[in-house]
Amino acid sequence: MLIAGNWKMYKGPREAAAFCRELRDAALPDDVDVVVCPPYVSLESAVQALADTEIGVFAQSCHWEREGAFTGEVSAPILREVGVYGTLVGHSERRQWFGETDDSAGARVRAALEGGLHVIACVGETLAEREYGETEAVIRRQVGALEYDENLVIAYEPVWAIGTGRTATPEMAQEAHETIKSLLDVPVLYGGSVKPDNAAELLGRPAVDGALVGGASLDIDSFAAICRAASRS
Ligand code: PEP
Repeated sequence: MLIAGNWKMYKGPREAAAFCRELRDAALPDDVDVVVCPPYVSLESAVQALADTEIGVFAQSCHWEREGAFTGEVSAPILREVGVYGTLVGHSERRQWFGETDDSAGARVRAALEGGLHVIACVGETLAEREYGETEAVIRRQVGALEYDENLVIAYEPVWAIGTGRTATPEMAQEAHETIKSLLDVPVLYGGSVKPDNAAELLGRPAVDGALVGGASLDIDSFAAICRAASRS
């Protein structure tokens, strides 16, 4: 099981370090891999606070070139230099607000993997796509932009469930995860309003290999509770 906390645009370096120290002291279960994804400027303080632990620090995106005239972007070698272990790619908020496409997400994933990072690549349908019966086609298209790699994990995140308090039912998650696994044999996380009170049910489905957690990862008690629920699932 892998539990990843996506902090989005929350927690500057000081708050990140304080949170990571609490996480280090939280006695998280040994059988769960735990990852946090702070904003770029907080990565280094998170890495330092989590040194000598098994908790990984991931970025929230990564550019497809190693260096160049790409204002506002950060590359795999730069992330590696500060001790970052992996990165999210293709989160729906990047697709919705910053023009991320299947092609650009695919290029970022390739560059991150080639640059030695682990990757959690995000896919998932919008509410309109689900209502039009396009969920499977969208997943096939988005996953089709990716290639198998032993360091690749996919997060199935139905866009209508992110930050809304709505979650996919465990059956919906299971079905989408089976589709993804039929295309690429990689671990698949569920993401979309995972909370301490729904984590065990979602994580209990056989095709669910962990969770990508947004809002509930910002609070130490709820994030630790989700990690413990993963251990029992
Ligand atoms: C996310 O940001 O990837 C996410 C799933 O957010 P939330 O848990 O807040 O829905």
